[in-house]
Amino acid sequence: MNLKDHLLAQIALNGPMSVADFMTECLLNPKFGYYTTRDPLGAQGDFITAPEISQMFGELIGLSLAQCWIDQGKPDSFTLAELGPGRGTLMEDILRATRSVPGFHAAAEIVLFEASPALRDRQAQTLSIHDPRWIDSLTELPEAPLFLVANEFFDALPIRQFLRDGDGWHERLIGAEGESLAFGLGPNTSQVALADRITDTEDGDLVELCAAAIPILTVIAGRIASYGGTALIVDYGDWQSLGDTFQALQSHERVDPLQAPGHADLTAHVDFEPLALAARAAGCAHTKLTPQGIFLERLGITARAQALASPLGGTELETLIAAHRRLTHPEEMGNLFKVLGLYPSYAAPPPGLEP
Ligand code: SAH
Repeated sequence: MNLKDHLLAQIALNGPMSVADFMTECLLNPKFGYYTTRDPLGAQGDFITAPEISQMFGELIGLSLAQCWIDQGKPDSFTLAELGPGRGTLMEDILRATRSVPGFHAAAEIVLFEASPALRDRQAQTLSIHDPRWIDSLTELPEAPLFLVANEFFDALPIRQFLRDGDGWHERLIGAEGESLAFGLGPNTSQVALADRITDTEDGDLVELCAAAIPILTVIAGRIASYGGTALIVDYGDWQSLGDTFQALQSHERVDPLQAPGHADLTAHVDFEPLALAARAAGCAHTKLTPQGIFLERLGITARAQALASPLGGTELETLIAAHRRLTHPEEMGNLFKVLGLYPSYAAPPPGLEP
């Protein structure tokens, strides 16, 4: 049995499945799931992320979190958390950059939220000297100030897709055509969760809903509103998305998401507005959605790149210059990726972001 056969058997039993259920099976099925079974990052893997491109990304995020901690009166016990920490590279860079901030490490409890056993092992290796703790549910986050980062985490959460038809919506479903998986449409239904999208869409438009993100945001924002702290959410997407952004990546190439279930990374662009609304509903303030390039420039990435460049020459220097460009240039990651900051309404927003 492989994942495709397992999915076909499920469809034969229960009928077509939502894109969300398909994503969950493909990414996190305990036996065949993409994340459960492998480390997908890096040049040899399927995709590369900002912390894997350059240490500068994590260093600047780390200094931003530490500055928030200082601005909020240096609480003497807090949670330093990451959602979907991948290989642990971002947290390692955060911890190295903040080593010289007096009291920061001593006050921090490092908490990681990670679904993949393979990547938990990898994080345990990378971060062994820092003694991190893993949680299985966000509700296990300590009742304490929370300083949190999530890079390319929300894009991996399952989405449902809906096609507008009059005042109703057809859900895009995945069913079987012979021995193959195929897209189809469900019946026309009204969707309470999409009531606000009737005004900004037309017949035939496709919209996406990520229900799984909301309870996560609610817990995080609740902790920050009650105990202080900040969250930096970095991902590709926009305030409100329109159209099909469901995509599969294998060996750095886009592939058909139905082709090789469990062997490709599946993602969708992040709609930041529902995240911001959930944060507000939980009593937390949020910043303007800011392009990653602008955020990193404001935090001083150019000065950091110059400092790192001074002893370098040849290919090492070229790699550094390329990494700086890749993280910040509008035609690379600089504009596609956005940053949303959460912070308590009585505090200053995180450095590099505006209220
Ligand atoms: N933040 C890292 C890795 C991004 S890849 C980086 O920037 O390099 C997405 C990460 O989220 C992986 O660690 C993956 O295993 C984790 N992940 C995906 N879905 C998850 C879920 N539902 N719950 C917890 N972790 C999840």
